[in-house]
Amino acid sequence: MTFDDPARAGAPPTDWAAVWRTALRHGRTIANAALDVVFPPSCLACRKAVAAHGALCPACWRQVGFIEKPYCERLGTPFAYDLGVPGLQSPEAMANPPVYQRARAVARFDDGPVRALIHRLKYGDRMELAKPLGLWMARAGAELLAEADLLVPVPLHRRRLIWRQFNQAHALAEVIGRASGKRVDPFALARVKRTAPQVGLTRSQRADNVQGAFKVPEAGSLAITGRNVLLIDDVLTSGATLNAAARALLRGGATRVDVLVFARVVSAS
Ligand SMILES: [Zn+2]
Repeated sequence: MTFDDPARAGAPPTDWAAVWRTALRHGRTIANAALDVVFPPSCLACRKAVAAHGALCPACWRQVGFIEKPYCERLGTPFAYDLGVPGLQSPEAMANPPVYQRARAVARFDDGPVRALIHRLKYGDRMELAKPLGLWMARAGAELLAEADLLVPVPLHRRRLIWRQFNQAHALAEVIGRASGKRVDPFALARVKRTAPQVGLTRSQRADNVQGAFKVPEAGSLAITGRNVLLIDDVLTSGATLNAAARALLRGGATRVDVLVFARVVSAS
């Protein structure tokens, strides 16, 4: 990098005295303190100054629709009232049971800054967001993680991966794997069909669109046979993609498939 670099030219010089002060005051490492001075911590959603990296400001935090108990044992969708019955399933889960066993999510997709966070994870500040979002997921999915043998991220089609160069589900799975000590296998499941975007399709069109989209390769079958698999993705909307992925894993020999996502759509009904 030279001083002619336009990106560098406007940046203020690093204030090393401030780095030391910050490190001493907070008992932090010099590297972390340097990071705070060069890139002061900002809210993951709105960029307002916050105390630590990887956090939301109080205003954004209040707008996130965190999903907490009581929720449907199967779908992980929140109940309006606590009926005090453990393991209770929602009418939706009983009428339309998913292929996977249980799903858990950190937050509602449509509320507050969640949609923007997901968009930035996919297309913007990828690694900056994968860590905090993955750590939230590890907390929300603690029950599922305790019973999981391995984590499998929902794969992208090979050509889409080449174009995007980043699979957000894989990045999240790596963070969750490190936090929980569970193995991540990004090759256990392959996306063999390039599917059209699911946006604007009806429920049955979405299911048709992703039918046969996933396959467990031979090597993947060895890894998952007789195992409890936890599928990782960023978002659950209709559940069609995760159902198709779970179906392929069960056919490939998995004993049980659970699902952990960052955000899910919660229907108004
Ligand atoms: Zn904010």
